[in-house]
Amino acid sequence: MLASERRQYILEKTQETGRVQINDLSQELGVSRMTVHRDLTGLAQEGLIRKVYGGATTTASPRVDDDACAMCSMRVRRRTAFILNCEDGSQIQACCPHCGLMLLTMRPEAISALTVDFLHGRMINVRTATYLVNSELTVCCTPSVLCFQFQDEAERFQRGFGGEVMDRAQAQAYLSTSMDIHRAHDEP
Ligand SMILES: [Zn+2]
Ligand SMILES: [Zn+2]
Repeated sequence: MLASERRQYILEKTQETGRVQINDLSQELGVSRMTVHRDLTGLAQEGLIRKVYGGATTTASPRVDDDACAMCSMRVRRRTAFILNCEDGSQIQACCPHCGLMLLTMRPEAISALTVDFLHGRMINVRTATYLVNSELTVCCTPSVLCFQFQDEAERFQRGFGGEVMDRAQAQAYLSTSMDIHRAHDEP
């Protein structure tokens, strides 16, 4: 298992269960406690988890430093932040899942990405999230993209606000296509 896969596993498990123990992770992953400890330290430095005695817990919200979105330069807000983690440990921040998914298309070197569940406000893995695209609920960029951990919750919002429920790949493809259309309109 690659270090990045191990860290992904730890991050997902922390998000699922709310809290992880170094001893458990060491057994599950078949690596030393020292290795798990280093992984947790790295994830904590990125602001993705919070280290506690003997393990780690989820962070209530991402470390967002009022940075500008790497895509559209708008200020990144905690409520809709989308964060790409790169192999070299650096982070790229986007204002919302709309810009985040576009960045993900442009920056395939990102090893993982997190965003905020629109309903519950907690960090979720963008890979397994469900997206409500082009609904009437516009919180940031258009076409609006809202992100949910659970598909049934995305569908609840869809009933109220329209739009299409998609997985990550579908949402990325949709945004690429819609940007091409916008570009075509811009041409004289
Ligand atoms: Zn943006
Ligand atoms: Zn945005």
